[in-house]
Amino acid sequence: MMKKSYLAATLVILILVICLAIPFHDSLGKDNLSLSLPDDEQTLLSADEYTGQIRSFPAPDETRYVMDIYLDIMSNLIYGRSSICTINTTGRVMDELWLTVYPNAFCNPASTPAPAQAYYKGFNPGWLELDRVVVNGQEVEYYLEGVSMHIVMPFDIMPDKDIIIDMNWRSRIPEIAYRFGSQDGVFMLGNFYPFLNVYDQAGWHRAYNSKFGDPFCFHCADYLVQVNIPDAYELVSTGRTNQRIAEDNGRTIYFIEASKVRDFCLLVIYDYQEIISNVHNVTVKCYVPGGSRMDKAQEIAAQCGEILNYYSCRWGSYPYPEFKIAFVPMQGFHGMEYSGLIFLKEELLSSKFDSNRASFILAHEAAHQWWYVLVGNDQLAEPWLDEALANWSAYEYQKDGQRLDVKRKPTTVTSKLDQQLNEMDSSSEYYQTIYDGGEAFWAALERELGRDTIDIVLCRYLEDYKYDIATTQGLLEVIRKEAHQDMDSFLNEWF
Ligand SMILES: [Zn+2]
Repeated sequence: MMKKSYLAATLVILILVICLAIPFHDSLGKDNLSLSLPDDEQTLLSADEYTGQIRSFPAPDETRYVMDIYLDIMSNLIYGRSSICTINTTGRVMDELWLTVYPNAFCNPASTPAPAQAYYKGFNPGWLELDRVVVNGQEVEYYLEGVSMHIVMPFDIMPDKDIIIDMNWRSRIPEIAYRFGSQDGVFMLGNFYPFLNVYDQAGWHRAYNSKFGDPFCFHCADYLVQVNIPDAYELVSTGRTNQRIAEDNGRTIYFIEASKVRDFCLLVIYDYQEIISNVHNVTVKCYVPGGSRMDKAQEIAAQCGEILNYYSCRWGSYPYPEFKIAFVPMQGFHGMEYSGLIFLKEELLSSKFDSNRASFILAHEAAHQWWYVLVGNDQLAEPWLDEALANWSAYEYQKDGQRLDVKRKPTTVTSKLDQQLNEMDSSSEYYQTIYDGGEAFWAALERELGRDTIDIVLCRYLEDYKYDIATTQGLLEVIRKEAHQDMDSFLNEWF
């Protein structure tokens, strides 16, 4: 007993000495944002010996995008100023940064992911150019390659120190009916700005261009965005508009805030109608092009509330105050998910469009608020994680509400689920493996374990990876833990 007290007292003294030493250590001029330290000091703080908390980078609770956006509708240009403020949570000395610049996928006909039918005026390009990139107050070199941007810094940033990336850029919106494009006064601005990529134990998650799928891997962050548009237009976005100021030059500035979102999507519209409803504490807003069938839109908006409620009750609450649906001209997809906002193809409003199919598409895109927005994943490395769950969640919603889409084909599984985007040869292989095969996996798991256990698995998965990035390995660990049975032979069939 005495010996234990003595040891405890020694430990307390040791901790006090270390705590007192830290401010002294910090006062040696190390509070600068950018640091270039002597080699011996870098060695002292290198990753192997770093004793601070190592977290995936850029940490969601430490990262903020501050953006100033000006939309010129005459030239289809966005003028942007971005500051990405974060902290070096990698535990390593950083001397490079990787970002994703999705607009550069649309530079030329060979690289564009948009299908030919999206180009209603023939090919015309989209791109993003930067005037100046500054990291921690110093101008830095950067290299653009495909949808990637590589920043090389002539100085090091030590662990736990601030990183502030300032960029002046401009981006051309291609005139296409697509997730990044414009048609008939509608500007669909998905992934329109430079995103900071993820760095973790596996290193940088770098983006590459792909003709199909979502070539993204992002951490959640907070956003403060100011958007300047002509006042004849309306703005719909991720987050909430806190204020709008009409200038005396025919333009309006919107001040938008979004917390803990996976991405920030903008939609600028002309001649749209809005349907607003409330589901518990969530405001559902539905944006419908003028002249559309409002009865169909009302039906879809009402069903959206039902869907949000269904997923919230089953797996965990919808996290944001607002959820928005916008019907847009879009080819190549029936729907596209962003944080707190989904795009649906205008055709879903047509009387010819099968309403069960429309219900499935809506339920799939809404499910991405849980599986993609809340629980993120590397959509290049493990695209099955979010798409399989989005499909299966929509199936569950339809099954429970007796709204099953009778036209959906039965699934045959021919390949393993955990394939990277660039391991698949065609979009049909991608959809068959990732969506259909992934949905079949969850359906088989439900048959194996029962609905109650599946729900326990998904509640645990959501809880463990909320606002973070999940992996196949992490999900399989949750399944093995909650199944309370040997899962090896079952899982080996799928992975
Ligand atoms: Zn999806």
